[in-house]
Amino acid sequence: MNAVVHAANHGRGLPPSRRDLGFYIDGALSAAGHRETMDRVAPGYGQVVSRVTLCTAEDVDRAVIAARSAFVRGEWSRRSGRERSAVLNRAAALIRERREELAYWETLESGKPISQSLAEMGGAANEFEQGAAAARTLHGDTFNNLGDDLLGVVLREPIGVVALVTPWNFPLIVLAERLPYILASGNSVVVKPSEFTSATTLMMADLLAEAGLPRGVYNVVTGLGPGVGEALSAHPDIDMISFTGSQRAGQSVMTLATGNFKKVSLEMGGKNPQIVFADADLDDAADGVAFGLCYNAGQCCVSGSRLIVEASVAEDFQARLVDKLQHVRTGECLDPEVQLGAIFTPAHRDKIMGYIGAGTKAGATLALGGELIRISKGDYIAPTLLTHTTNHMDVVRNEVFGPVLCQMTFHGEAEARELANDSPYGLAASIWTKDIDKALRLMRTVNGGRMWINTTISGGPELPKGGMKQSGIGREGGLMGVEEYTEVKAAHIAIGKRRPWVQAAAPAPLPPRGTAP
Ligand code: NAD
Repeated sequence: MNAVVHAANHGRGLPPSRRDLGFYIDGALSAAGHRETMDRVAPGYGQVVSRVTLCTAEDVDRAVIAARSAFVRGEWSRRSGRERSAVLNRAAALIRERREELAYWETLESGKPISQSLAEMGGAANEFEQGAAAARTLHGDTFNNLGDDLLGVVLREPIGVVALVTPWNFPLIVLAERLPYILASGNSVVVKPSEFTSATTLMMADLLAEAGLPRGVYNVVTGLGPGVGEALSAHPDIDMISFTGSQRAGQSVMTLATGNFKKVSLEMGGKNPQIVFADADLDDAADGVAFGLCYNAGQCCVSGSRLIVEASVAEDFQARLVDKLQHVRTGECLDPEVQLGAIFTPAHRDKIMGYIGAGTKAGATLALGGELIRISKGDYIAPTLLTHTTNHMDVVRNEVFGPVLCQMTFHGEAEARELANDSPYGLAASIWTKDIDKALRLMRTVNGGRMWINTTISGGPELPKGGMKQSGIGREGGLMGVEEYTEVKAAHIAIGKRRPWVQAAAPAPLPPRGTAP
């Protein structure tokens, strides 16, 4: 076994009973009633912890009507930025106050280590504070250069009703990276969380109401992608859909959205390179690469899953990396010492193991890991390093979404860039070097919406996030993230008396010669 397995020892136990999740429309929480439901087994524990309601197309219609009515009533959409900002700041404070409970449910449903969930709740509060700031600073533009008789004013207005579809791997943080920015300009929202991790999105309903968000502005419909997600994508009264998830589902969202040409924003997967040069601080780089691989058990869109290391230090770097990976603490997610948690479903476990098998079959060498670890009722995959891989192998080309790192070597900057960019994705990249010129050249030329130099998966809500190529369309976060959810209106204001287009009445024609006046 490669990883050090930590014995479970923590004060938090499993919930005494299953949590039945309803759905939330127009300020009211409803129970499943006659609707079908789906049970969620806590990854790592094998126990059902929650039951999610599979909402119907009629529920989606009702949620959209509620969101539209709230938008038209204007209790939120026509409030000042200062007032909206106060509500978002209160929401941030409440997230911090309820951090323990939110993190507990995030871990139970997703399988991520509790220490990580707690940190993510702090991150979520941070996003709401950034959204609050953006509510006050969002502004348009003016054109005072159109001549003496014309002033141009560019207005930013809320887009209207936004649908937000989120994935299971970061349920609350993905919500928080979008929702405060959507709300900042005055939009109403219908959220569909992943069917596997709906608890914290529903818990936010209560929290937002307490923070002062008027009814109907935040609605949650739970259920499956093909039912609820597709109904939202195709809905004729939704103005914009923001989707975060797989490419397969993103393609369906985009196709269905053409029905009413709603605006589409897509945040999808990545196959992100970690480029390590010989002149890097190799210890820092090894630590960063280990973190970038194991964070959320590699079930992370910006996971550093392709290691592109300079050939002259490949052996040395591999030894340092293996040592780091062998010390990653794997075990029960509720144990505060654990760093690598459970794989989120048995089907996903099989998919990851299948990719590792296909990789070795295609010629890769299994240098570390590759095995399934069973701890009580959970499935864990040891941090895995495959060497001698090429960009043509499925395990390198596709998003595996597990702690599986594929190593390639390069000679020189040009080859490093070529290997990094040879991917259908363009979400993120990390560059490790002490040569500032080289770092800047690669930062400019490597594909990716997020670049990290001598670090990885770090940053705050101030900077925009998003992908190039097949990783996505649009940006989330910061001021750009607010602007993404606005419409732009150009207004032209005349100054002074109009210069007539129609001339004054022409003089009467002269009478023919010789006729009496
Ligand atoms: P997924 O595509 O299976 O599901 C994502 C969401 O879409 C869920 O709510 C699901 O119910 C819904 N959905 C599924 N099919 C749908 C359809 N046809 N129409 C509309 N909605 C549909 O993805 P997942 O397994 O939950 O999440 C993992 C994926 O998300 C990975 O590819 C990961 O890289 C990506 N992701 C990207 C980012 C980012 O910011 N770029 C962040 C987190 C996750």
